[in-house]
Amino acid sequence: MDFDYPALPREFKRNYLPQDIKFEWDDVNRVFEELGNRPLMSTADLERWLLDESELDAYLYEQRAIRYFNSTRQTDNPDYTKAFEEYTEFLEPKIKLASFKLLKKYVGSTFRSRLPRPVYELEDRRREGAVSIFREENVDLEKEDSALSQKYYRTTGAMTVTFLGQERTLQQMSKFYEVPDRAVREEAWRLSSQRALTDSKVLDSIYSEMVTLRDKIARNAGFNNYMDYIFVKKDRFDYTPNDCEEFHRAVEEAIVPLSRDIDSARSERVGIDVLMPWDLQVDPAGREALRPFDQVPALVSGARKVLAKVDKELVSFFERMVNLQLLDLDSRKGKAPGGYQEELAEVRLPLIFMNAVGKDDDVRTLLHECGHSFHTFLIRKARLPFFNGGANMPNEFSEVASMSMEMITGEHYEGVFYDREDAKRSNWREVVDNVKLFTWVATIDAFQHWVYTHPAHTREERAKAWVATFNRFCGLESYEGLESTRAYRWQRQLHLFEVPFYYIEYGIALTGALGVWSRYRKDPNDAIEAYKSALSLGCARPLPELFEAAGVEWGFGSGAVRRVAQELRSAIKEYGE
Ligand SMILES: [Zn+2]
Repeated sequence: MDFDYPALPREFKRNYLPQDIKFEWDDVNRVFEELGNRPLMSTADLERWLLDESELDAYLYEQRAIRYFNSTRQTDNPDYTKAFEEYTEFLEPKIKLASFKLLKKYVGSTFRSRLPRPVYELEDRRREGAVSIFREENVDLEKEDSALSQKYYRTTGAMTVTFLGQERTLQQMSKFYEVPDRAVREEAWRLSSQRALTDSKVLDSIYSEMVTLRDKIARNAGFNNYMDYIFVKKDRFDYTPNDCEEFHRAVEEAIVPLSRDIDSARSERVGIDVLMPWDLQVDPAGREALRPFDQVPALVSGARKVLAKVDKELVSFFERMVNLQLLDLDSRKGKAPGGYQEELAEVRLPLIFMNAVGKDDDVRTLLHECGHSFHTFLIRKARLPFFNGGANMPNEFSEVASMSMEMITGEHYEGVFYDREDAKRSNWREVVDNVKLFTWVATIDAFQHWVYTHPAHTREERAKAWVATFNRFCGLESYEGLESTRAYRWQRQLHLFEVPFYYIEYGIALTGALGVWSRYRKDPNDAIEAYKSALSLGCARPLPELFEAAGVEWGFGSGAVRRVAQELRSAIKEYGE
């Protein structure tokens, strides 16, 4: 794929930023200085200032995105690697400090309270929160924290095994868990977990250092623990740690029994007495893995057909991405693993990155990322008078955009990617995966609640707390003889290292996404209209309003989780028949 950035249409003109600005500190700093020194003598001045600042934010966000995108699509291109590293090492810390000065200027302005409500209300609260927790001495600690993240990446990225005569990453090994031959699955699983275990002490130390650092960051900012700090830092205005704990209990009561029913049906169908960790991905009827397409062009044309059945406008967004070459989908040597959607905030266009190899998951991933890209397209329409993107966009809702699109499009696979039986099989897997995702979200979130409210813990205590949490939400698979693998299983979840406390968002969003999907099954037109209008609201409304606009009730407590469990149970029956 040729990514031709200069050729992208520039439909949104700059009114403030110099046309010839370069992504270098001198140029960027000149703009920061002008904004910093500009006198704000009226509410109109402040509004103008916010608009100008949003141009700078969009520019910085886009430049970072391009460098990130390039560095992941060609990890073996030293120029791209260097450009991204230079950004994170030299530019990013300076930008963070300079942006903070502007935040402070905003919060110190007396005209702030006169900005019209409700449009500025949430943004005002975000800024006030960010200023209240900022401490100069934490800038270096955060840098140390990201250096530790890099160490985590280097350690896990170097994990490979030799299997069937070929060196493979642990991520590449996961496809062997779907092989019908049980001996092959077991060997693949044991090899990977043994490889991961050889570095478990290293990862344990990295994590301990991170927990200590993060606790210090929180205390510097005047909090008792890092959990309370992160709720302010992540703008979690609409729920509390107690709400998350209620979610954990609700999952334990309503979803875990369903997850275990799935497992016992699985062991019956596969015909094994004791389900082992390597038996969880295989097709219960012993069929080979689904093959929805061979080459990327077939994936693209299939996605187009499926989206055309969902909505005219949404498929036109997708076609625009195809025409502008904003999709990098194939798996190539030198390409980073994973998949993501990235927003180019100035041209207001999305990029999709993934590694398609012809699996059922690839179709799901593309349509998931499409959901994110529709969000990017739809917020173009609703220009807000401040930066409407990046970290301002709440993940609790942006994942509703993607997860619900992933499920909605699944309704139209038949005749495009699959015949009737395989379409049902794919949807059955999706529903089962969502059940398992709920239990995993509760596991990871409950574990982090424990970790950061017990910052002085020893490694032994942590391993014990993990196993207790894991057992609370796990399925029926046995870890007899595999106890140490279970004790370090958390180390495979990169969020714990890289983006602490980022996980409950998936549980909240999944609850909402399932609501959108079930509405779509009853009244597709109505559901898509609500979906689009909710996405167009951008980041100016609180979560309960965004959910409501999407036509679903806000909340992830026991009532909501029980409703979702029922929905999932009946879908499993429907697709499993
Ligand atoms: Zn996503």
